[in-house]
Amino acid sequence: MSSYLSPSGLNAVKTGNSAQRGVEMQYKSYKYLPKDMLELTYECPGCHKDHTVKVNQYRFEEYSDTHIHIQDAFPELSAAERELMITGICDPCFKTAGNER
Ligand SMILES: [Zn+2]
Repeated sequence: MSSYLSPSGLNAVKTGNSAQRGVEMQYKSYKYLPKDMLELTYECPGCHKDHTVKVNQYRFEEYSDTHIHIQDAFPELSAAERELMITGICDPCFKTAGNER
């Protein structure tokens, strides 16, 4: 009992699920496509090239408004496409960082 520690500093950081997600990558530009699709362009912070991902515009609005999990909002996207939407990092840069050449 006497050795119980109260990590008050941690509580300040972990305020909730939405806060844990932190700041997400903002897309650089977007354009509307036929069939309610939206093409989002992200500039990769690694290689500074533009990369696009296509999503349903209504689901993207829901995702932006409610902060549901990205895999629930866009189950059809690949892991690399979701990574692009979360961090803006493209697949080649992500693999390079993970494999530390
Ligand atoms: Zn890149």
